[in-house]
Amino acid sequence: MGIRFIAVVLLVFLGFYLFKKYRKPSSVTEQQPSSNKMVACSTCKTHIPEDEAIMQDGKIYCSKECL
Ligand SMILES: [Zn+2]
Repeated sequence: MGIRFIAVVLLVFLGFYLFKKYRKPSSVTEQQPSSNKMVACSTCKTHIPEDEAIMQDGKIYCSKECL
């Protein structure tokens, strides 16, 4: 164990940190427009993702029970 080992460990951590830092914003901006849009159920007012909602006669329902 010497100063070289510590330097290598620090470089690996720095590389991993920078990798995560530059990866994160791109993945977040890619996910936001397509999904995560919340809609309210017409019956129970529960907020659910739009892609899981059931649309019927212009109203939004969270599940078949609320239809
Ligand atoms: Zn509901």
